Amino acid sequence: MKRVSILGATGSIGQNTIDLIRRAPEDFEVVALTGGRNIARLAADAVALGADVAVTAYDDLLPDLRAALAGSEVEAAAGSAALIEAAGRPAHWVMSAIVGAAGLAPGLAALEQGATLALANKESLVTAGPLMIRTARENHARILPVDSEHSAIFQAMVGEESAAVSRVIITASGGAFRDWPLADLERATVAEASSHPNWAMGQRITIDSASMFNKALEMIEAREFFGFTPDQIEVLIHPESVVHALVGFCDGGLMAHVGPPDMRHAIGYALHWPQRQALPVEALDLAAIGTLNFRAPDIARYPALRLAREVMEMRGLSGAVFNAAKERALDHFIAGRIGFSDMNVVVEEVLTRLTRDPEEMNATLTLDCVSRMDHLARQSADQVVTERNS
Ligand code: NAD
Ligand code: MG
Repeated sequence: MKRVSILGATGSIGQNTIDLIRRAPEDFEVVALTGGRNIARLAADAVALGADVAVTAYDDLLPDLRAALAGSEVEAAAGSAALIEAAGRPAHWVMSAIVGAAGLAPGLAALEQGATLALANKESLVTAGPLMIRTARENHARILPVDSEHSAIFQAMVGEESAAVSRVIITASGGAFRDWPLADLERATVAEASSHPNWAMGQRITIDSASMFNKALEMIEAREFFGFTPDQIEVLIHPESVVHALVGFCDGGLMAHVGPPDMRHAIGYALHWPQRQALPVEALDLAAIGTLNFRAPDIARYPALRLAREVMEMRGLSGAVFNAAKERALDHFIAGRIGFSDMNVVVEEVLTRLTRDPEEMNATLTLDCVSRMDHLARQSADQVVTERNS
């Protein structure tokens, strides 16, 4: 019996994880489920799975959660301290699927209690990669990638020496606007940016796919998780989204991971690792797909990829600056205060303003200093937006 917790249980990754767990209820005991404002979903899943505790991130929703759980044995809790406490409850396996930098502290709490952390929350590695890796090592915990590209790399490297790897290629669908003329991007609306051609995901990562900020985060994630150097990490646009990543070896061979765009593959791989188990994932019909296309991304179209390279070189606190600026720029875009292309400008400007001091950038990462830098970068992004709009 595996004891599992799901952080961000009400989201897209969380719901896919619950789907897998529900198919084999006798194999799992659910410790904690956490969510945000969707109290009905959180409570229904917590009751159905017999969780010990359900936590909403928002204090003001505690009465609603209590009411929704009335008559069940599930404990109700709310707020960020409760979230961290629940994440730190003994469990073998914890899914980290909160969106954004808010996933960092709960993920660290899970690692501190020695869990295997299935990491969908790429922001944890982008903002605090060395801290995550160190915390895992010190607590004999383990991080398994869930992002499809990183799961693909991880799988392609099974049994290989990392010294034999010469490069990795991460694929990108190109998102909602891959075929739009560059000049039209400026006028792209939130609704247009929120529809993905191949993957069904949360709204924020879907918009990040259209701007390629998602791929930028994934480049940094690959650097931090696997220790590749920036020049070993390449990105290719691959509109069919069936080759998730390729690993290149020193003998010239490339190992590709191929599968349908269904996150239950990567989640299931992390859930059953080191075994493989049958998953409810469609078998690919390659003959029906016929042709697979690959092309180099146009850097003028996707400034996020260039900025990611700068951050991969700088490391330290620059990842926290980059991610927080991106999160705020996205908030401002969703709220209609800036245009789609302005997100690039805001993030670049915040990076310029806050990463001037190399010594400060290279401080040993702690949760405190990462949180402080995250806060500063959000303020700076707000400032840049105010200046642009005045
Ligand atoms: P989502 O928006 O569908 O769900 C996010 C979850 O986090 C929800 O449960 C929400 O209640 C919770 N949440 C939101 N803000 C929070 C806060 N401030 N504090 C605590 N909880 C909060 O997002 P998603 O698409 O499931 O993505 C989750 C994570 O997985 C992201 O880091 C994303 O980049 C990553 N990821 C997602 C996919 C995908 O297919 N959806 C693929 C790869 C990686
Ligand atoms: Mg991905």
